[in-house]
Amino acid sequence: MSEKLGNGDRALRIAIIGAGPGGLCMGIRLAGAGFENFEIFEKADGVGGTWYHNRYPGCACDVPSHLYSYSFELKRDWSRPYAPQREILAYLEHCAEKYGLVPHCRFGDAVVRARWNETASNWTIELASGRTTTADVVVSSIGMFNEVSMPDIPGLDTFAGTSFHSSRWDRKHDLSGETVGVIGSAASAVQLVPEIVKQAGQVFLFQRSANWVAPKDDTPYTTEKLVRFRNDPDAAAKLRQRIFDSLGGTRVIAEMAAEQEAACLARIAEVRDPQVRARLIPEHPWGCKRPLFSNDYYPAFNRANLELVTDRIERITPRGIVTADGRERRVHTMILATGFAATKFLSAIDVVGRGGLAIGDAWRDGAQAYKGVTTAGFPNLFMLYGPNTNADSIITMLEYQVDHVLRQIQRIVRENLAWIDVKPEPMDRYNAQLQRDIEAVELWQAGCTDYYRAPDGRIVTQWPHSMPALEQALSSLDEDVYEIAALPDGRCWTGR
Ligand SMILES: Cc1cc2nc3c(=O)[nH]c(=O)nc-3n(C[C@H](O)[C@H](O)[C@H](O)COP(=O)(O)OP(=O)(O)OC[C@H]3O[C@@H](n4cnc5c(N)ncnc54)[C@H](O)[C@@H]3O)c2cc1C
Repeated sequence: MSEKLGNGDRALRIAIIGAGPGGLCMGIRLAGAGFENFEIFEKADGVGGTWYHNRYPGCACDVPSHLYSYSFELKRDWSRPYAPQREILAYLEHCAEKYGLVPHCRFGDAVVRARWNETASNWTIELASGRTTTADVVVSSIGMFNEVSMPDIPGLDTFAGTSFHSSRWDRKHDLSGETVGVIGSAASAVQLVPEIVKQAGQVFLFQRSANWVAPKDDTPYTTEKLVRFRNDPDAAAKLRQRIFDSLGGTRVIAEMAAEQEAACLARIAEVRDPQVRARLIPEHPWGCKRPLFSNDYYPAFNRANLELVTDRIERITPRGIVTADGRERRVHTMILATGFAATKFLSAIDVVGRGGLAIGDAWRDGAQAYKGVTTAGFPNLFMLYGPNTNADSIITMLEYQVDHVLRQIQRIVRENLAWIDVKPEPMDRYNAQLQRDIEAVELWQAGCTDYYRAPDGRIVTQWPHSMPALEQALSSLDEDVYEIAALPDGRCWTGR
């Protein structure tokens, strides 16, 4: 980043953490607004975030792809309604190239610590490599599904075969003919199990609780349709709008519940073994947990080489997986499809704000933010895909947040502010109302305990309204809600 330009005035230095869809969008918008002095710190060796890390067989979007792209960079030739991971990754790589972000990216180095300097009014950022840098503004875009969640099973580290988490897939490892144990039966497992059963000799799927897996209309687009989308921008734009209109947040989820449950039950009815059928029926209503989609999941249970195991896993041995009934299933490879620590957010990094306040202490009872983007005591620090912003199509939700953060950054420059910090009282009021709105979503009160909840029981991941409602909430700069401090000695931010 450039140094001071003279007279104490200098350009604002911005650090973005993460080069997933959020961090890239932030970079694109900053560059478009004339900001040049920003760096994107990414622990991986490339852009793409979720779509860089998750490369398991069958990994695909479960929001229709014509909506899962930036509004300013529509991709019109998705090969099918729900694009596979490699197409989404290629799209994000294309965006990074096209909008000139690659020179701003610092790959292969994780941010491990960020400390607010009271006197200098800036952030010191420490990287895993030992490098240190400073920034006036930090935008954390580390995603919600990044910290992998490892199961707490005795003996896990004694396993002598191959073992990896689904989001860190070992592509060099050939599963052909192997006996494979998959632990976990949620979002990643429903996508990967139907693929690996085609290759492996035997697959044991260890399910703790059943999930609803709804069918989706995913017939690949015909050549004629792709030509039409390519030649007629309106066709893709209209389809995008139709998809957007069909996703109405929690209201639509509630309206769809009965229909989706019926659709899932019809697919489960196709499973021939009555005992397996019974164990595939969830105990919670559809919509209580994250909705899952797959056309191939339930049919896979009609294959002779897939066994559904619902006995509790007791321990792992060097050779396999032992269930509560004492039976050991020997496996060559163990795949941990155990998801992510989705409620950690920024506390995945050692962040220390005003007065030495550590984010882990500020969020002792669970993460909280003001409108998802700022949290009291951490000046000039913005979050994307932060607490309570998970709903419908995340790229669209991220765009709303990025636009808001850009306007906050522009305010800092325009008003020559050293920092802005959301006040605790309005943040608490906002969260009290948010939790009341969440309590009103009946489906989420049906006793599901999963990634939606923090240790104190609060749902901290979900946005309880629609996408336009978040756009509306973020349309105001909320000047009165922020404490501000001017740059000292009449100094100014110079340009950008
Ligand atoms: C398998 C899977 C399927 C999904 N499918 C959908 C879908 O169909 N529709 C949908 O809307 N959403 C889906 N999601 C959610 C998805 O995460 C978001 O849509 C989107 O990727 C969020 O973008 P992001 O940039 O906020 O976070 P991410 O995509 O998670 O990117 C965060 C980036 O930050 C980097 N990072 C993290 N910590 C650090 C650090 N300390 N230092 C440096 N870099 C760091 C990571 O390496 C990563 O590249 C899915 C998630 C998963 C896991």
